[in-house]
Amino acid sequence: MELDRRTMLAGATMLAAGAGRAAAPQRKLGYAIVGLGVYGLGVISPQFANCRSSRLVAYVSGDRDKARAAAAKYGVPERSIYSYAEFDRIRDNPDIDIVYVCLPNSMHAEYVIRAAKAGKHVMCEKPMAVSVAECEAMIAACKAANRKLMIGYRCHFEAFNLEATRLARAGAAGKIRYVRSEHGFVQTNPEAWRLKRALSGGGSLMDMGVYSLQAARYMTGEEPVAVTARESTDRSDPRFHEVEDIIDWTLEFPSGAIGSCQSMYSANQNHILLMGDKGRIELEPGTRYNGNRMWLGKDGREQEIINPPPGPGPTQWAGQLDHLVDCIRSNREPIVSGAEGLRDMRIVEAIYRSAREGRTVRL
Ligand code: NAD
Repeated sequence: MELDRRTMLAGATMLAAGAGRAAAPQRKLGYAIVGLGVYGLGVISPQFANCRSSRLVAYVSGDRDKARAAAAKYGVPERSIYSYAEFDRIRDNPDIDIVYVCLPNSMHAEYVIRAAKAGKHVMCEKPMAVSVAECEAMIAACKAANRKLMIGYRCHFEAFNLEATRLARAGAAGKIRYVRSEHGFVQTNPEAWRLKRALSGGGSLMDMGVYSLQAARYMTGEEPVAVTARESTDRSDPRFHEVEDIIDWTLEFPSGAIGSCQSMYSANQNHILLMGDKGRIELEPGTRYNGNRMWLGKDGREQEIINPPPGPGPTQWAGQLDHLVDCIRSNREPIVSGAEGLRDMRIVEAIYRSAREGRTVRL
């Protein structure tokens, strides 16, 4: 079964169309960031400077001093700083159009649902939540409130990943037979919330594994029909008392192509390899913030793709942030909507079940 969603390329085309409209003197839509951690504060906050139709207008944080300092730096008015207890008051702030949830995974569902009930559109970080049931509740809440829900799958707006997907679809490697995707980093802090099941929902699969799974799906353009997984964790390591370290899984696609994916918290890796019957497309690193590299091997020749066509925005995050604004304005579903996050979570649950029960799980 082909993916029943618009492809990444369709999204890029739509964004290009949106770029024309941006010339009109429209108000930029305002984002409130919830969770001022490494991602919400360190990565997302500076990105509004690169956006054409999004701006940063509010912060929700448990640390007022940190929020004040960040607000001063990024021009957020003091009256638009909220504590978690005050969160629902965002309803009364007309500057806030969109809430961007950058919290630990198990808090995503609660804040997405509360944001929708407050009448706001939502961008939610990956993984969408920690269970299929939560994803369904989030989608239902946004639908009931008639608000858009998008998942922060930034690679759908990243130039190398867009070009790799375009090349794969165009048959540059021939008929796709195999895709491999591995993502991991060395988790050094045993106290990190990522290692606490109640906050993370799981180990490396819930974090870096999402990139491996996403890549296998967007590179093939197919939905897996079966998964077989195996977990390898040293439970005597204090980091891994609650969650898995290494997990690898095989995806069977309807075309007969095979996905071989992996994630881990004990080595650094960032790799996507697509093999077709005429060649290969390889990215290493493939999904980093910067410095991704890509090769096309065909007919015995090897070529590094140095300058892929630019993505929809000046950075992957600007493309992502402005895409949701375009979708709100034109009343379209984001290319990575809640439904896309739910698809991943169904597979994530099947991966865990397969590893637990030692058998292939059909999807
Ligand atoms: P982080 O630990 O740096 O930040 C989490 C924030 O949540 C902190 O400000 C923390 O104070 C706050 N918080 C509120 N309640 C908390 C609680 N009970 N326990 C712990 N923290 C609490 O984490 P992060 O790296 O910014 O990750 C946040 C989310 O963003 C995660 O879902 C993660 O998967 C996602 N993320 C996505 C990317 C990406 O490239 N798309 C990159 C990094 C993180």
